[in-house]
Amino acid sequence: MIRLHEPRVITPRPQLDSEPSHDWRVLGLCAQTGPVDDVWLPSKGQPARHGKAICLSGCPVIRECLLFALNSDRQLEGVWGGTSESERRVLRRKWRARKAAEAARRQAGAA
Ligand code: SF4
Repeated sequence: MIRLHEPRVITPRPQLDSEPSHDWRVLGLCAQTGPVDDVWLPSKGQPARHGKAICLSGCPVIRECLLFALNSDRQLEGVWGGTSESERRVLRRKWRARKAAEAARRQAGAA
């Protein structure tokens, strides 16, 4: 697993221009709270509820954040899109199964 928490770092706009797909990061509530590890990266066995509560309190980019984490090839640690790692493991399995089913349906329709 990789500790990757760029969304919690306020990145200047010019630097983000080279990564337009990640512009949402500066809008996250976590960008305002800063990199507080015990909130966004709770130790193993510690609850992620504080970070999740911040996400769910109205983060304007919660959908983008969750999709980023689910689509990532890497297993991201900590809280993303209002979910904990274990919640994302379950979601990722369902998400990938749904994407595979949709691709199969599209392929069957094209044949
Ligand atoms: S959903 Fe949570 S982790 Fe994602 S950008 Fe918003 S506050 Fe940050």
